[in-house]
Amino acid sequence: MEYSAPRGTQDITPDESGIWQYLEATVRETMARCGYGEIRTPIFEHTEVFERGVGTTTDIVEKEMYTFRDRGDRSITLRPEGTAPVIRAYVEHRMAARPQPAKMYYIGPMFRYERPQAGRFRQFHQFGMEVVGVPGPAADAEVIATPLEVFRALGIRDVVVNLNSIGCPVCRGAYREALRQVYQPVLAELCPSCQGRYDRNPLRLLDCKSEQCRASVPEPPPIFGYLCPECASHFAELRLLLDGLGIEYVINSRLVRGLDYYTRTTFEYNVGGIGSQDAIGGGGRYDGLVEQFGGQSVPGVGVACGMERCVLAMKAEADDSRFARGITVYLVSLGDAARAKAFELAFDLRAHGISADFDMIGRGLKAQMRYADKLSARYVAIIGDDELERGAVALKDMASGSQQDVPIAQLATQLLNNR
Ligand code: AMP
Repeated sequence: MEYSAPRGTQDITPDESGIWQYLEATVRETMARCGYGEIRTPIFEHTEVFERGVGTTTDIVEKEMYTFRDRGDRSITLRPEGTAPVIRAYVEHRMAARPQPAKMYYIGPMFRYERPQAGRFRQFHQFGMEVVGVPGPAADAEVIATPLEVFRALGIRDVVVNLNSIGCPVCRGAYREALRQVYQPVLAELCPSCQGRYDRNPLRLLDCKSEQCRASVPEPPPIFGYLCPECASHFAELRLLLDGLGIEYVINSRLVRGLDYYTRTTFEYNVGGIGSQDAIGGGGRYDGLVEQFGGQSVPGVGVACGMERCVLAMKAEADDSRFARGITVYLVSLGDAARAKAFELAFDLRAHGISADFDMIGRGLKAQMRYADKLSARYVAIIGDDELERGAVALKDMASGSQQDVPIAQLATQLLNNR
């Protein structure tokens, strides 16, 4: 019986993990440079955290959560997203009493019961950032701009930023009514999901992807005419800040995103060359969320980016060789005595901080050389009886092909000097 990983999950094998490590290192380095501290929340939470945080009318809560009862009969959910847990932690750890803003980032797996396809999984990974405690648009601008820095460092080009404001509870009421008026005459022709959205969450009517709805609905009015003065000026200031950074964006008045907690700013990044699932990240402002979790009224804004999609885009655009693992030196040994020496020498080189590997199988010279090539070894050090007697190795530079004798006692120093 051969098992496969569950549908919608994937193994990241050693052949693949180099690109992931490069991505993670780039995220960590960028976040540290921008003043964000890492937060690690549990992989599972009480189900209420997501019901309350993400919203009961969202696709995530209605149909995508991995929820189960544990042995203590508690309802537990594998986290489908990162913001609700971070805000739960912000309130639990009284972070509002610390210097504000709280700037946090996370990297880790998320779980959603979705229909798997290219770029869409049931276990996937996100990196995300949250700024809590800033009402003004500087935080929105930083949260939009920082992942763009990550994408640039990864070699992902041509990212399109879509930007919208969905207002606040004050102005959204009037807009909801306006939307209902537009959709009411065609209600019977809408897809079943939208028929439910019409009553419960009419804003979500805007981002329905079904052909049926696209064909039957007249173009709804953009929200901008309905924004209250505060929301309108927040949006205008955000645009000025982005313009100042030279960030181009497309105003997309249909961009409401799938989570209930957003207020004012919503945004999404799209990238070409990775198939139909081309949203590589997105986020928005969530000024009411901390209060929903029993904290004071503290504003927040955040973003989450899909790492599988980043990897797809990195592969599509960038030279793969920089993600290869590679080692500095492979020790080729011929004969039992030489193999024993190679074993010791490998550990000695490693203790000097040099990545080294050696033949464990007792293969012949050619097979060992082929293996060294597969490992992308920069050097091969050959040890046979001859070399043992002279206390030296034949050190071969794999790129140039040049070879020289190096005394074993000097091998570490020489390899360190060659770096
Ligand atoms: P969301 O948390 O829904 O705002 O999604 C943020 C980003 O996470 C998206 O733009 C995608 O890049 C990524 N993402 C969301 N769901 C999935 C999934 N099921 N599989 C892979 N990536 C996903």
